[in-house]
Amino acid sequence: MSGFARDTKYYGDRLVYEPLESKWRGYHAQHCGCGQDWLEAHAVPAGFTVIPRGRTGYYGLVGPGLTEGVDEEKLTANALWEAATGKPGAQTWYESVRVTCRSPEVEAARKAENERVYGPRRERAAQAKTEPATEAQLKYLATLVEKVGKERFDAEFAKAVKGTGIELRRPRERTATAAKRLTKAAARKLITGLVGY
Ligand SMILES: [Zn+2]
Repeated sequence: MSGFARDTKYYGDRLVYEPLESKWRGYHAQHCGCGQDWLEAHAVPAGFTVIPRGRTGYYGLVGPGLTEGVDEEKLTANALWEAATGKPGAQTWYESVRVTCRSPEVEAARKAENERVYGPRRERAAQAKTEPATEAQLKYLATLVEKVGKERFDAEFAKAVKGTGIELRRPRERTATAAKRLTKAAARKLITGLVGY
């Protein structure tokens, strides 16, 4: 989303306008059509400064009429519109400023929330790498082997255990016995491989 923002981590205490690149590129192509990069060809020469936002590829713009010398209660992107399209901006509504607070407390809360949401998922994934394959998985694998044959089973088995340290099926080993050596995660991978076949 394009919008006005304050984010101390990336921009210090400056008010910036974060343009949605694709949107503004589209406006420029439609209304100017010079074929050049709108940022370099118009925004920078018009006095706007590009402030990179870390290494995210996003950036903020500051400049005359957009973030400088403006009434912050009455923000519009008209100045940028005029620079990028060559036509007067017609934005009649005002935009608010999105403030991203990055105080240590807020950052800690964000981290905790992230851990709460993704922690269990990470844990389950880690567990699946050590837990043995389930009965249900083994049963399903048995029916799949019957369908696809041992050769296919071996090929997919090799893919599924790659990098896990689980040994391949030995020449006279039954497929069911080999499957019992699988972890839950490897079994899942093997099933996916065999079903997709
Ligand atoms: Zn142009």
